[in-house]
Amino acid sequence: MSRIVYVNGAYVPEEEARVSIFDRGFLMADAVYEVTSVLDGRICEFEGHVARLHRSLAELKMAAPVDDAALLEIHRELIRRNDLTEGTIYLQVTRGAADRDFAWPEGAEPGLVLFTQAKALETPKAAETGIRVASVEDLRWGRRDIKTTQLLYPSLAKMIAREKGADDAWMVEDGYVTEGSSNNAYIVTGAGTIVTRQLSNDILHGITRASVLRLAREAQMVIEERPFTLAEAQAAKEAFSTAASIFVMPVVEIDGVPVGEGTPGPLAKRLREIYIAAAKATSI
Ligand code: PLP
Repeated sequence: MSRIVYVNGAYVPEEEARVSIFDRGFLMADAVYEVTSVLDGRICEFEGHVARLHRSLAELKMAAPVDDAALLEIHRELIRRNDLTEGTIYLQVTRGAADRDFAWPEGAEPGLVLFTQAKALETPKAAETGIRVASVEDLRWGRRDIKTTQLLYPSLAKMIAREKGADDAWMVEDGYVTEGSSNNAYIVTGAGTIVTRQLSNDILHGITRASVLRLAREAQMVIEERPFTLAEAQAAKEAFSTAASIFVMPVVEIDGVPVGEGTPGPLAKRLREIYIAAAKATSI
């Protein structure tokens, strides 16, 4: 059975899905996106992802193609049609198709594409072993708080990290870690404090980040939102990353230096459990 995707109002087999070559998402990365996780056939953190989608659209003065209720129904229909129990749903809104011009077109119909990806999220092997990261200079643009489809540099950063024998990149700017190639970055100090960079235009405001910090506070964990250096991260007791597709992922090595014992730390493991339980409890 081929995967059924959603493209501009229609559910079609992926081989039949078509978008215009004039779509500005294709020509200029003039598009925003979201990725939500699915556990037990239900969508996690839908409200948070939709709220951030609206924020991204508003920052780029882009129109929402459908209302939130319709968006939820499309997610659910894709889950049903693809028999998805565990994986992710990718959603992309583009400014639409118009003859190529740097100026935004008037009256273009926004484009909307969604597709599912079946994958193990709850118990992937990486969560047991932890992942290794390599530092890469952060050369992205200055509005990383908007979730746009300009993913060339994060993709390049990931490949540089792979060439260095690591699984992912942590990006560094002015000596401080900003975030991972597609996730937010954290360390745990010797005193047990969770440190992660504060929200600004420098990083994406992760939906998982917001929930993990709230759950950590509820569990009486201490949090500091501030920048940290690579050296501080390498000397930390633990490190981890968060994103919708990895939840809480332990980081066991940074630029070849083991973090703590070089194995997933107890705090990251606990936060992963707490997060997954909460995500399931609130999934829709
Ligand atoms: N930072 C970047 C650069 C990302 O691309 C992502 C997710 O794609 C995140 C952080 C994590 O965001 P979320 O937790 O909403 O998935």
